[in-house]
Amino acid sequence: MNLLEKIQWKAAYRWRLLRFRLWGKDITCAECGQPAGRVIVHLRAGRLRLEGLEQSDVIVDFASRETLRFRHADASECRKPAPPPAAP
Ligand SMILES: [Zn+2]
Repeated sequence: MNLLEKIQWKAAYRWRLLRFRLWGKDITCAECGQPAGRVIVHLRAGRLRLEGLEQSDVIVDFASRETLRFRHADASECRKPAPPPAAP
């Protein structure tokens, strides 16, 4: 990687960080309520694209016609609250 490529890579990385800081939305797991990532939503030509989940193990589906639901795909990351103790 030459110097110009390093500068371009660094600028692209900083631009991505800035975009996520400005326009990113934190998402939480519907199962455990813990943070699951940060995304930028792109809606163009009838397609929905979520930028930022490329390296996350998150399952996305529609909770209703208007809302998305995010869940951890890996059970070890999902920290579900412990069930209340059974009454004696
Ligand atoms: Zn979870």
